[in-house]
Amino acid sequence: LGMKLPEVITHELAAASLPKRPRFGHKGTFGHALVFGGSKPFVGAPLYSAHTAFHCGAGLSTLVIPEETYPVIASQNQTALIRTLPSDGGHFNGTGVAPELFEKVTAVAIGPGMGRFEAGPEFIRDIIDHLDAQPIVIDADGLFHIKDQMELLSRYEGPVVLTPHPGEMGTLTGKTVPEVEADRIGIAHDFASRHNVYLVLKGHRTIVATPEGIWVNPLGNDALAKGGTGDLLTGMITAFLAQGARPEDAMRAAVHIHAVSGERAALKGSHYGVVPDDIIEASREVLKQME
Ligand code: AMP
Ligand code: MG
Repeated sequence: LGMKLPEVITHELAAASLPKRPRFGHKGTFGHALVFGGSKPFVGAPLYSAHTAFHCGAGLSTLVIPEETYPVIASQNQTALIRTLPSDGGHFNGTGVAPELFEKVTAVAIGPGMGRFEAGPEFIRDIIDHLDAQPIVIDADGLFHIKDQMELLSRYEGPVVLTPHPGEMGTLTGKTVPEVEADRIGIAHDFASRHNVYLVLKGHRTIVATPEGIWVNPLGNDALAKGGTGDLLTGMITAFLAQGARPEDAMRAAVHIHAVSGERAALKGSHYGVVPDDIIEASREVLKQME
């Protein structure tokens, strides 16, 4: 009812959606991405997101991780700045968010590898309270922590992008995965317009929904069906938002580049063998053909 027909995300549309890069720009021109994530079992996820934000053009990328994970995560990091917050049992404990964290930050991602912890819902509220309308991307267990406080996101002054896979979409809506999969377009459209958020419903044929419009990505394959690939997508969207892209542009460009990079990586590394680093590497070639 009143729903627009979805448009296909083409190479041309994705290329037109990329943020422009003035040749005289310095790192401050291209924004600062801040990624909150990580926990004792999930060390790779926040690194993948922060690393991809850098690879997709953010001027700076900062990772905010639980104190106890610092030695391991920092030893694997080459590109991000790192800040730590207090933690218990290998998770954030919900304290330590302070205004200094957000200085000059132009986009924030919350969730990659963060896991579930008691103070999660409160922790995310606290982050949002410290923000000043910068775009936010919420993924993974960040979605679990916000599922009962969607009104907080509906009234946030800046754009909020949610990136659920079908299981996480089920958590957000109280539906089963088969129910979500049976009506991907309708459910994504309904959720985005009802809650006034931007939504990427992942999986084969990813859907991009805004409060007003809806797009389908026809590309990508099973090479992407491996832990860590979702964290790359979060990093890509955050990178483009950090550089000033509108949310619908950031989502369309990222979803396309992510899918094509997965396909390209599979041509070299096989559908079996592709790992997230191969996809990051392939994304450089894909970006090269779009800039
Ligand atoms: P996540 O489930 O959070 O790890 O994210 C997985 C990512 O890989 C999402 O961007 C999915 O859309 C993508 N993906 C996984 N399997 C496929 C597939 N068979 N075809 C296309 N994209 C896929
Ligand atoms: Mg994920």
